[in-house]
Amino acid sequence: MGKEVRNMIYLDNAATTKTAPEVVEAMLPYFTECYGNPSTVYGLGSEAKKAVNQARRTIADAIGAKQEEIYFTAGGSEADNWALKAAAEAYSAKGKHIITTKIEHHAVLHTCQYLEKQGFEVTYLDVDGDGLVDIEALKAAIRPDTILISIMYANNEIGTIEPIAQIGAIAKEKGILFHTDAVQAFGQVPLNVDELNVDMLSASAHKLNGPKGIGMLYIRTGVKIRSFVHGGAQERSRRAGTENVPGIVGFGAAVKRAVAGLDEKIRKETILRDYLIERIEKEIPYCRLNGHRTKRLPGNVNFAFQFIEGESMLIMLDMKGICASSGSACTSGSLDPSHVLLAIGLKHEIAHGSLRLTLNEENTKEEMDFVVDELKKIVQRLREMSPLYEDFVRKQG
Ligand SMILES: *Cc1c(COP(=O)(O)O)cnc(C)c1O
Repeated sequence: MGKEVRNMIYLDNAATTKTAPEVVEAMLPYFTECYGNPSTVYGLGSEAKKAVNQARRTIADAIGAKQEEIYFTAGGSEADNWALKAAAEAYSAKGKHIITTKIEHHAVLHTCQYLEKQGFEVTYLDVDGDGLVDIEALKAAIRPDTILISIMYANNEIGTIEPIAQIGAIAKEKGILFHTDAVQAFGQVPLNVDELNVDMLSASAHKLNGPKGIGMLYIRTGVKIRSFVHGGAQERSRRAGTENVPGIVGFGAAVKRAVAGLDEKIRKETILRDYLIERIEKEIPYCRLNGHRTKRLPGNVNFAFQFIEGESMLIMLDMKGICASSGSACTSGSLDPSHVLLAIGLKHEIAHGSLRLTLNEENTKEEMDFVVDELKKIVQRLREMSPLYEDFVRKQG
Protein backbone atom coordinates (compact mmCIF):
# COMPACT_ATOMS: atom_id res chain seq x y z
CA MET A 1 0.00 0.00 0.00
CA GLY A 2 2.33 2.73 -1.14
CA LYS A 3 2.32 5.64 -3.45
CA GLU A 4 -0.60 4.64 -5.65
CA VAL A 5 -2.95 4.57 -2.70
CA ARG A 6 -1.95 8.03 -1.56
CA ASN A 7 -2.43 9.46 -5.03
CA MET A 8 -5.68 7.65 -5.53
CA ILE A 9 -8.96 9.36 -6.36
CA TYR A 10 -11.71 7.23 -4.89
CA LEU A 11 -14.96 7.66 -6.79
CA ASP A 12 -16.74 4.45 -5.84
CA ASN A 13 -18.55 5.49 -2.68
CA ALA A 14 -21.70 3.66 -3.75
CA ALA A 15 -19.74 0.39 -3.54
CA THR A 16 -18.35 1.20 -0.12
CA THR A 17 -16.89 4.11 1.80
CA LYS A 18 -13.81 4.73 3.88
CA THR A 19 -14.43 4.09 7.57
CA ALA A 20 -14.12 7.55 9.11
CA PRO A 21 -11.22 7.93 11.60
CA GLU A 22 -13.57 9.00 14.40
CA VAL A 23 -15.65 5.88 13.73
CA VAL A 24 -12.61 3.60 14.06
CA GLU A 25 -11.63 5.46 17.22
CA ALA A 26 -15.09 4.97 18.72
CA MET A 27 -14.94 1.24 17.92
CA LEU A 28 -11.46 0.43 19.25
CA PRO A 29 -12.23 0.25 23.00
CA TYR A 30 -14.96 -2.30 22.26
CA PHE A 31 -12.31 -4.71 20.97
CA THR A 32 -9.63 -4.07 23.55
CA GLU A 33 -11.14 -2.95 26.85
CA CYS A 34 -14.88 -3.13 26.80
CA TYR A 35 -15.13 -6.55 25.16
CA GLY A 36 -17.83 -7.98 27.43
CA ASN A 37 -20.89 -9.79 26.17
CA PRO A 38 -23.85 -7.38 26.46
CA SER A 39 -26.04 -10.18 27.85
CA THR A 40 -23.94 -10.62 30.99
CA VAL A 41 -24.60 -9.09 34.40
CA TYR A 42 -21.17 -7.75 35.39
CA GLY A 43 -19.90 -4.27 34.63
CA LEU A 44 -17.91 -5.19 31.55
CA GLY A 45 -21.03 -6.59 29.89
CA SER A 46 -23.33 -3.79 30.92
CA GLU A 47 -20.88 -1.23 29.54
CA ALA A 48 -21.12 -2.97 26.18
CA LYS A 49 -24.89 -3.13 26.48
CA LYS A 50 -25.03 0.58 27.21
CA ALA A 51 -22.96 1.30 24.10
CA VAL A 52 -25.25 -0.87 21.95
CA ASN A 53 -28.32 0.94 23.26
CA GLN A 54 -26.70 4.32 22.74
CA ALA A 55 -26.01 3.45 19.09
CA ARG A 56 -29.56 2.16 18.71
CA ARG A 57 -30.90 5.47 20.02
CA THR A 58 -28.70 7.52 17.68
CA ILE A 59 -29.85 5.50 14.67
CA ALA A 60 -33.51 5.56 15.71
CA ASP A 61 -33.39 9.34 16.19
CA ALA A 62 -31.82 9.79 12.75
CA ILE A 63 -34.88 8.33 11.03
CA GLY A 64 -37.59 9.39 13.48
CA ALA A 65 -38.08 5.85 14.81
CA LYS A 66 -38.35 4.39 18.30
CA GLN A 67 -35.32 2.62 19.74
CA GLU A 68 -37.10 -0.71 19.94
CA GLU A 69 -37.91 -0.56 16.23
CA ILE A 70 -34.22 -0.83 15.22
CA TYR A 71 -32.86 -4.36 14.71
CA PHE A 72 -29.16 -4.78 13.99
CA THR A 73 -28.22 -7.12 11.15
CA ALA A 74 -25.02 -8.13 9.39
CA GLY A 75 -25.61 -5.53 6.66
CA GLY A 76 -28.00 -4.33 4.00
CA SER A 77 -28.36 -7.65 2.20
CA GLU A 78 -29.40 -9.40 5.39
CA ALA A 79 -31.91 -6.66 6.24
CA ASP A 80 -33.46 -6.94 2.76
CA ASN A 81 -33.65 -10.73 2.98
CA TRP A 82 -35.22 -10.61 6.41
CA ALA A 83 -37.78 -7.95 5.51
CA LEU A 84 -39.02 -9.72 2.40
CA LYS A 85 -38.91 -13.36 3.43
CA ALA A 86 -40.30 -12.89 6.90
CA ALA A 87 -43.03 -10.44 5.87
CA ALA A 88 -44.08 -12.71 3.01
CA GLU A 89 -44.35 -15.62 5.38
CA ALA A 90 -46.15 -13.70 8.13
CA TYR A 91 -48.79 -12.24 5.83
CA SER A 92 -49.25 -15.19 3.45
CA ALA A 93 -52.66 -15.98 4.93
CA LYS A 94 -53.87 -12.64 3.56
CA GLY A 95 -52.37 -13.13 0.09
CA LYS A 96 -49.27 -14.08 -1.85
CA HIS A 97 -48.69 -11.09 -4.11
CA ILE A 98 -45.63 -8.82 -3.81
CA ILE A 99 -44.80 -5.67 -5.77
CA THR A 100 -41.27 -4.46 -6.39
CA THR A 101 -39.35 -2.85 -9.28
CA LYS A 102 -36.97 -4.01 -11.99
CA ILE A 103 -34.17 -1.81 -10.65
CA GLU A 104 -33.84 -3.09 -7.10
CA HIS A 105 -30.54 -4.27 -5.65
CA HIS A 106 -29.95 -8.00 -6.10
CA ALA A 107 -30.50 -8.47 -2.36
CA VAL A 108 -34.16 -7.65 -3.07
CA LEU A 109 -34.47 -9.06 -6.61
CA HIS A 110 -32.92 -12.44 -5.86
CA THR A 111 -34.97 -12.72 -2.67
CA CYS A 112 -38.10 -12.05 -4.74
CA GLN A 113 -37.06 -14.79 -7.17
CA TYR A 114 -36.63 -17.15 -4.24
CA LEU A 115 -40.10 -16.23 -2.97
CA GLU A 116 -41.56 -16.93 -6.41
CA LYS A 117 -40.21 -20.47 -6.08
CA GLN A 118 -41.99 -20.67 -2.72
CA GLY A 119 -45.34 -19.92 -4.36
CA PHE A 120 -45.47 -16.14 -4.11
CA GLU A 121 -46.30 -14.01 -7.14
CA VAL A 122 -44.13 -10.95 -7.78
CA THR A 123 -44.87 -7.94 -9.99
CA TYR A 124 -41.66 -6.22 -11.11
CA LEU A 125 -42.66 -2.65 -12.02
CA ASP A 126 -41.06 -0.95 -15.00
CA VAL A 127 -39.34 2.40 -14.57
CA ASP A 128 -39.14 5.30 -17.00
CA GLY A 129 -36.04 6.46 -18.87
CA ASP A 130 -34.81 8.28 -15.75
CA GLY A 131 -35.37 5.27 -13.51
CA LEU A 132 -38.52 6.59 -11.82
CA VAL A 133 -41.38 4.33 -10.79
CA ASP A 134 -44.74 5.32 -12.29
CA ILE A 135 -47.25 5.91 -9.48
CA GLU A 136 -50.20 5.05 -11.72
CA ALA A 137 -48.57 1.75 -12.71
CA LEU A 138 -48.04 0.98 -9.03
CA LYS A 139 -51.69 1.69 -8.23
CA ALA A 140 -52.78 -0.51 -11.13
CA ALA A 141 -50.58 -3.38 -9.92
CA ILE A 142 -52.16 -3.46 -6.44
CA ARG A 143 -54.57 -6.39 -5.94
CA PRO A 144 -56.67 -7.61 -3.02
CA ASP A 145 -54.01 -10.26 -2.32
CA THR A 146 -51.05 -7.83 -2.39
CA ILE A 147 -49.26 -8.14 0.95
CA LEU A 148 -45.99 -6.29 0.44
CA ILE A 149 -44.50 -3.45 -1.61
CA SER A 150 -40.70 -3.17 -1.65
CA ILE A 151 -39.24 -0.19 -3.51
CA MET A 152 -35.76 1.22 -3.00
CA TYR A 153 -35.32 4.79 -1.76
CA ALA A 154 -32.49 5.56 -4.17
CA ASN A 155 -30.87 3.44 -6.83
CA ASN A 156 -27.29 2.35 -6.26
CA GLU A 157 -26.27 2.54 -9.92
CA ILE A 158 -27.97 5.59 -11.41
CA GLY A 159 -28.74 7.50 -8.21
CA THR A 160 -32.40 8.15 -9.00
CA ILE A 161 -34.49 8.94 -5.90
CA GLU A 162 -37.95 7.34 -5.97
CA PRO A 163 -41.17 9.05 -4.79
CA ILE A 164 -41.15 7.05 -1.54
CA ALA A 165 -43.49 9.34 0.46
CA GLN A 166 -46.10 9.07 -2.29
CA ILE A 167 -45.70 5.29 -2.48
CA GLY A 168 -45.87 5.05 1.31
CA ALA A 169 -49.13 6.99 1.39
CA ILE A 170 -50.66 4.63 -1.16
CA ALA A 171 -49.47 1.53 0.70
CA LYS A 172 -50.87 2.90 3.97
CA GLU A 173 -54.23 3.73 2.43
CA LYS A 174 -54.49 0.22 0.99
CA GLY A 175 -53.25 -1.43 4.18
CA ILE A 176 -50.24 -3.00 2.47
CA LEU A 177 -46.89 -3.45 4.19
CA PHE A 178 -44.21 -1.17 2.70
CA HIS A 179 -40.47 -1.86 2.77
CA THR A 180 -37.78 0.41 1.37
CA ASP A 181 -34.14 -0.44 0.77
CA ALA A 182 -32.57 2.83 1.91
CA VAL A 183 -29.00 1.53 1.89
CA GLN A 184 -27.86 4.17 -0.60
CA ALA A 185 -29.93 6.97 0.89
CA PHE A 186 -29.25 6.65 4.62
CA GLY A 187 -26.66 9.23 5.59
CA GLN A 188 -26.88 10.89 2.17
CA VAL A 189 -30.32 12.51 2.35
CA PRO A 190 -32.71 13.18 5.28
CA LEU A 191 -35.08 10.27 6.04
CA ASN A 192 -38.09 10.06 8.34
CA VAL A 193 -40.06 6.84 8.59
CA ASP A 194 -43.30 8.57 9.56
CA GLU A 195 -43.18 11.16 6.80
CA LEU A 196 -42.43 8.36 4.34
CA ASN A 197 -45.00 5.97 5.80
CA VAL A 198 -42.59 3.07 5.59
CA ASP A 199 -43.10 -0.03 7.73
CA MET A 200 -39.63 -1.47 7.19
CA LEU A 201 -36.37 0.17 6.11
CA SER A 202 -32.95 -1.38 5.40
CA ALA A 203 -29.64 0.40 5.94
CA SER A 204 -25.96 -0.52 6.03
CA ALA A 205 -23.10 1.15 7.91
CA HIS A 206 -20.38 0.76 5.29
CA LYS A 207 -22.22 2.99 2.82
CA LEU A 208 -22.00 5.95 5.24
CA ASN A 209 -18.39 5.79 6.43
CA GLY A 210 -19.10 3.08 8.99
CA PRO A 211 -17.67 -0.44 9.19
CA LYS A 212 -18.60 -3.34 6.89
CA GLY A 213 -20.74 -6.21 8.07
CA ILE A 214 -23.21 -4.24 10.18
CA GLY A 215 -26.57 -2.87 9.16
CA MET A 216 -30.09 -2.61 10.42
CA LEU A 217 -33.70 -3.25 9.66
CA TYR A 218 -36.25 -0.79 10.98
CA ILE A 219 -39.49 -2.62 11.75
CA ARG A 220 -42.46 -0.46 12.70
CA THR A 221 -44.19 -1.44 15.95
CA GLY A 222 -47.11 -3.72 15.16
CA VAL A 223 -45.60 -5.28 12.04
CA LYS A 224 -45.70 -9.02 12.56
CA ILE A 225 -42.65 -10.64 11.06
CA ARG A 226 -40.87 -13.74 12.22
CA SER A 227 -37.43 -13.88 13.74
CA PHE A 228 -34.55 -13.98 11.31
CA VAL A 229 -32.16 -15.94 13.48
CA HIS A 230 -33.51 -18.19 16.23
CA GLY A 231 -31.49 -18.59 19.41
CA GLY A 232 -30.87 -16.18 22.24
CA ALA A 233 -32.96 -13.19 23.17
CA GLN A 234 -30.80 -10.58 21.42
CA GLU A 235 -32.59 -7.96 19.28
CA ARG A 236 -35.83 -8.68 21.13
CA SER A 237 -35.49 -12.37 20.16
CA ARG A 238 -35.86 -11.55 16.48
CA ARG A 239 -32.22 -11.80 15.49
CA ALA A 240 -30.28 -14.02 17.86
CA GLY A 241 -26.52 -14.04 18.27
CA THR A 242 -24.07 -12.11 20.42
CA GLU A 243 -24.14 -8.53 19.23
CA ASN A 244 -21.38 -7.21 16.98
CA VAL A 245 -20.63 -4.59 19.61
CA PRO A 246 -17.73 -2.79 17.87
CA GLY A 247 -19.68 -2.82 14.60
CA ILE A 248 -22.81 -1.46 16.25
CA VAL A 249 -20.81 1.25 18.05
CA GLY A 250 -19.15 2.12 14.72
CA PHE A 251 -22.52 2.26 12.99
CA GLY A 252 -23.81 4.61 15.69
CA ALA A 253 -20.73 6.84 15.38
CA ALA A 254 -21.07 6.90 11.58
CA VAL A 255 -24.72 7.92 11.82
CA LYS A 256 -23.93 10.62 14.37
CA ARG A 257 -21.24 11.95 12.04
CA ALA A 258 -23.50 11.73 8.99
CA VAL A 259 -26.39 13.54 10.65
CA ALA A 260 -24.15 16.35 11.91
CA GLY A 261 -22.53 16.86 8.51
CA LEU A 262 -25.49 16.14 6.28
CA ASP A 263 -26.37 19.61 4.97
CA GLU A 264 -22.76 20.44 4.23
CA LYS A 265 -22.18 17.04 2.59
CA ILE A 266 -25.21 17.46 0.34
CA ARG A 267 -24.18 20.99 -0.58
CA LYS A 268 -20.58 20.07 -1.43
CA GLU A 269 -21.40 16.87 -3.30
CA THR A 270 -24.18 18.45 -5.35
CA ILE A 271 -21.84 21.20 -6.56
CA LEU A 272 -19.13 18.69 -7.52
CA ARG A 273 -21.65 16.31 -9.08
CA ASP A 274 -23.18 18.96 -11.27
CA TYR A 275 -19.77 20.32 -12.22
CA LEU A 276 -18.63 16.84 -13.26
CA ILE A 277 -21.84 16.24 -15.24
CA GLU A 278 -21.56 19.60 -16.96
CA ARG A 279 -17.94 19.12 -18.01
CA ILE A 280 -18.52 15.58 -19.28
CA GLU A 281 -21.59 16.58 -21.28
CA LYS A 282 -19.80 19.57 -22.77
CA GLU A 283 -16.47 17.95 -23.55
CA ILE A 284 -17.13 14.30 -24.37
CA PRO A 285 -19.35 13.66 -27.42
CA TYR A 286 -21.86 10.79 -27.73
CA CYS A 287 -22.59 10.35 -24.06
CA ARG A 288 -25.80 10.16 -22.08
CA LEU A 289 -26.43 10.91 -18.41
CA ASN A 290 -28.08 7.88 -16.79
CA GLY A 291 -30.59 8.56 -14.03
CA HIS A 292 -32.74 11.56 -13.20
CA ARG A 293 -30.98 14.92 -13.43
CA THR A 294 -32.34 16.41 -10.21
CA LYS A 295 -34.13 13.61 -8.33
CA ARG A 296 -30.71 12.15 -7.77
CA LEU A 297 -28.35 11.27 -4.95
CA PRO A 298 -25.97 14.21 -4.35
CA GLY A 299 -22.87 12.09 -5.01
CA ASN A 300 -23.95 10.04 -8.04
CA VAL A 301 -22.75 10.51 -11.61
CA ASN A 302 -23.48 7.83 -14.21
CA PHE A 303 -22.82 8.15 -17.93
CA ALA A 304 -23.12 5.88 -20.92
CA PHE A 305 -20.43 6.49 -23.54
CA GLN A 306 -21.23 5.16 -26.98
CA PHE A 307 -18.89 2.80 -28.85
CA ILE A 308 -16.82 1.65 -25.87
CA GLU A 309 -16.67 -0.92 -23.08
CA GLY A 310 -17.04 0.17 -19.48
CA GLU A 311 -14.58 -2.46 -18.29
CA SER A 312 -11.80 -1.05 -20.51
CA MET A 313 -12.53 2.42 -19.18
CA LEU A 314 -12.21 1.13 -15.60
CA ILE A 315 -8.83 -0.46 -16.26
CA MET A 316 -7.47 2.68 -17.89
CA LEU A 317 -8.86 4.90 -15.12
CA ASP A 318 -7.28 2.58 -12.55
CA MET A 319 -3.91 3.11 -14.22
CA LYS A 320 -4.40 6.81 -13.46
CA GLY A 321 -5.29 6.04 -9.84
CA ILE A 322 -9.02 6.59 -10.30
CA CYS A 323 -11.39 4.06 -8.69
CA ALA A 324 -14.75 3.89 -10.45
CA SER A 325 -17.38 1.35 -11.36
CA SER A 326 -19.04 0.32 -14.59
CA GLY A 327 -22.26 -0.94 -13.09
CA SER A 328 -22.90 -2.25 -9.64
CA ALA A 329 -20.02 -4.09 -8.02
CA CYS A 330 -22.21 -7.18 -7.97
CA THR A 331 -22.74 -7.13 -11.73
CA SER A 332 -19.08 -6.55 -12.54
CA GLY A 333 -17.39 -9.81 -13.29
CA SER A 334 -20.25 -11.02 -15.40
CA LEU A 335 -20.64 -9.92 -19.00
CA ASP A 336 -24.35 -9.20 -18.76
CA PRO A 337 -25.08 -5.49 -18.76
CA SER A 338 -26.63 -4.13 -15.60
CA HIS A 339 -30.33 -4.89 -15.13
CA VAL A 340 -30.81 -1.27 -14.05
CA LEU A 341 -29.41 0.19 -17.27
CA LEU A 342 -31.51 -2.21 -19.35
CA ALA A 343 -34.60 -1.26 -17.33
CA ILE A 344 -34.16 2.44 -18.16
CA GLY A 345 -34.15 1.46 -21.82
CA LEU A 346 -30.49 1.38 -22.80
CA LYS A 347 -29.52 -1.01 -25.57
CA HIS A 348 -27.05 -3.72 -24.55
CA GLU A 349 -24.10 -2.17 -26.37
CA ILE A 350 -24.73 1.26 -24.85
CA ALA A 351 -25.28 -0.12 -21.35
CA HIS A 352 -21.86 -1.81 -21.67
CA GLY A 353 -20.22 1.60 -22.08
CA SER A 354 -21.48 2.96 -18.77
CA LEU A 355 -19.39 4.47 -16.01
CA ARG A 356 -20.45 5.24 -12.44
CA LEU A 357 -18.56 7.84 -10.41
CA THR A 358 -19.78 8.25 -6.83
CA LEU A 359 -18.38 11.08 -4.75
CA ASN A 360 -17.97 11.98 -1.13
CA GLU A 361 -17.65 15.33 0.59
CA GLU A 362 -13.86 15.12 0.66
CA ASN A 363 -13.49 15.16 -3.12
CA THR A 364 -12.28 18.40 -4.70
CA LYS A 365 -12.86 20.36 -7.89
CA GLU A 366 -9.21 19.71 -8.82
CA GLU A 367 -9.88 15.98 -8.64
CA MET A 368 -12.94 16.38 -10.84
CA ASP A 369 -10.85 18.30 -13.38
CA PHE A 370 -8.19 15.60 -13.38
CA VAL A 371 -10.83 12.91 -13.85
CA VAL A 372 -12.51 14.65 -16.79
CA ASP A 373 -9.17 15.40 -18.46
CA GLU A 374 -8.13 11.75 -18.18
CA LEU A 375 -11.56 10.44 -19.10
CA LYS A 376 -11.59 12.52 -22.28
CA LYS A 377 -8.31 10.98 -23.40
CA ILE A 378 -9.40 7.47 -22.43
CA VAL A 379 -12.73 7.68 -24.25
CA GLN A 380 -11.03 9.03 -27.34
CA ARG A 381 -8.34 6.34 -27.28
CA LEU A 382 -10.88 3.55 -26.84
CA ARG A 383 -13.07 4.92 -29.62
CA GLU A 384 -10.11 5.04 -31.96
CA MET A 385 -9.73 1.29 -31.37
CA SER A 386 -13.45 0.59 -31.81
CA PRO A 387 -14.72 -0.84 -35.11
CA LEU A 388 -18.20 0.41 -34.16
CA TYR A 389 -16.92 3.94 -33.93
CA GLU A 390 -15.00 3.61 -37.18
CA ASP A 391 -18.22 2.47 -38.91
CA PHE A 392 -20.12 5.33 -37.36
CA VAL A 393 -17.59 7.95 -38.46
CA ARG A 394 -17.51 6.51 -41.97
CA LYS A 395 -21.31 6.70 -42.25
CA GLN A 396 -21.23 10.29 -41.04
CA GLY A 397 -19.13 10.93 -44.13
C1 LIG B 1 -24.82 -1.97 -0.89
C2 LIG B 1 -26.28 -2.17 -1.04
C3 LIG B 1 -26.94 -3.27 -0.45
C4 LIG B 1 -26.19 -4.35 0.29
O1 LIG B 1 -25.68 -3.91 1.50
P1 LIG B 1 -24.53 -4.78 2.21
O2 LIG B 1 -24.37 -4.14 3.54
O3 LIG B 1 -23.32 -4.66 1.35
O4 LIG B 1 -25.04 -6.17 2.31
C5 LIG B 1 -28.29 -3.36 -0.60
N1 LIG B 1 -28.99 -2.44 -1.28
C6 LIG B 1 -28.41 -1.37 -1.85
C7 LIG B 1 -29.25 -0.37 -2.58
C8 LIG B 1 -27.03 -1.20 -1.76
O5 LIG B 1 -26.46 -0.16 -2.35
